[in-house]
Amino acid sequence: MSATGTGQVVVIGAGIAGLAAAHRLLERGARVTVLEASERVGGKLLPGEIAGVRVDLGAESMLARRPEAVALAREAGLAGRLQPPATATASIWTRGALRPMPKGHVMGVPGTAAALSGVLSDEGLARIERDADLPRTEVGDDVAVGEYVAARLGREVVDRLVEPLLGGVYAGDAYRISMRSAVPQLYQAARIHDSLTEAVREIQAKAVANQQTGPVFMGIEGGVGTLPLAVAESVRSRGGEIVTGAPVTELRRVRPDRADAAGHEGSRTAWRIVAGDRVLHADAVVVAVPAPVAAALLRAEAPAAAAELSAVEYASMALVTLAYRRADLALPEGSGFLVPPVDGRTIKASTFASQKWGWIADENPDVVVLRTSVGRYGETAVLDREDAGLVDVSRQDLHAATGLDAAPVATRVTRWTDGLPQYPVGHHARVARVREHVAELPGLAVCGAQYDGVGIPACIASAYAAVDQLAGDLGAVEELTANPVQSLHGGAGE
Ligand SMILES: Cc1cc2nc3c(=O)[nH]c(=O)nc-3n(C[C@H](O)[C@H](O)[C@H](O)COP(=O)(O)OP(=O)(O)OC[C@H]3O[C@@H](n4cnc5c(N)ncnc54)[C@H](O)[C@@H]3O)c2cc1C
Repeated sequence: MSATGTGQVVVIGAGIAGLAAAHRLLERGARVTVLEASERVGGKLLPGEIAGVRVDLGAESMLARRPEAVALAREAGLAGRLQPPATATASIWTRGALRPMPKGHVMGVPGTAAALSGVLSDEGLARIERDADLPRTEVGDDVAVGEYVAARLGREVVDRLVEPLLGGVYAGDAYRISMRSAVPQLYQAARIHDSLTEAVREIQAKAVANQQTGPVFMGIEGGVGTLPLAVAESVRSRGGEIVTGAPVTELRRVRPDRADAAGHEGSRTAWRIVAGDRVLHADAVVVAVPAPVAAALLRAEAPAAAAELSAVEYASMALVTLAYRRADLALPEGSGFLVPPVDGRTIKASTFASQKWGWIADENPDVVVLRTSVGRYGETAVLDREDAGLVDVSRQDLHAATGLDAAPVATRVTRWTDGLPQYPVGHHARVARVREHVAELPGLAVCGAQYDGVGIPACIASAYAAVDQLAGDLGAVEELTANPVQSLHGGAGE
């Protein structure tokens, strides 16, 4: 974005999307201020500690099959701390036992019935075989993952595999979640192939041909939660400003005739941003906050985008982190297990953090850290429990799944109210409409988990796309930068 020049850009929100945007803007020569409501940067990425062991209390793993997150970690100086999981095996707690997580599937959708042997009943496996003989199922413009897969392969695949795998990402409901947005490669393949298992086999063959062989996921020693801290440090070291404790409450365009004191009437749009007693002016703004906040901020200038954003729903969840004395327990192998909601358990998943991440095991060899996740879209009652109640239900389910009955030496409950945006059928169209409305206002861009994917790499990609979008808008600013009209104001008023 050579065109960014030395334009002043304000980024609202210092989650990973906002920080990635700031990072990229600085690379392209802009002057950047990030305004963050809370007292810390990172949003859903949160490093913490239990029983003296560093752990992640939010997101803990980055998809490494797409480049953005790992590349940003390297750019932020974390190359030497990247670590793949110590084990590639995981389990699924299904039909009364922990069973090995099958290999050879795309988000739980198998290429052959045999791939799910053990996980499904004999009837469930036989139903998958019928896929080859069924007439085509149209996917149309979009379709719910659960609906489509159940039509092709039967409900058991959805309930016992697709649902827990999707739930691990979206805390959502497979029968609502958009196939086009959540599993786009499956959607594209299903448009071409009549048989879903054939479509999956083709995706797998392509993956082999593309030699996608490295680790699927990557962690960071000290926690993925250290990524935003490192990016923030890099932003500051290159002259970017990050202001915490600065919730933005107002975002308005400044009329060009007032903003453009250099006499380039109509050649630029400037923005006025209010955060507490700070009033800032900028050539461009990146709105990197969750949908309800983005809706509130955009309501005055982009009401149609705001209306779309206020319709985005969120799921709440809690993470229960438990530390045990190593001598007190013997866990099954692997990184943990997923739990199909159909079995009526409370926890959705458990991560054996000390087995999954070598760096956690190394922190204190005498302590073992596990975590469970509780709560999903439409299931909020469980989250009404006190922290102690969430610890109790986690321990009960862990006992039933693994036989673990030792008492933890420490527990931590981290609540993520409205933590994950939902991607229902038609999500891609809603996002396209938001972007269309936003693009009508030069110098405005949006990014974050509610647009192109909730995972860390997708959030970073959306930030880079926002910066690219601003490039064109800021081209007009370049010529003004020798005589910047208005820059940062520390105090109230214009
Ligand atoms: C519990 C949990 C576990 C997850 N695990 C993983 C995982 O292992 N791997 C993975 O890839 N993804 C995971 N995700 C998803 C991923 O972490 C998030 O989607 C992503 O971090 C969101 O980043 P973001 O920058 O879009 O939003 P956020 O992280 O929500 O950041 C938005 C920021 O904006 C700030 N803000 C809000 N209002 C204002 C305002 N008015 N003014 C200024 N600032 C404001 C907030 O304080 C926040 O810091 C997980 C999510 C959750 C909730």
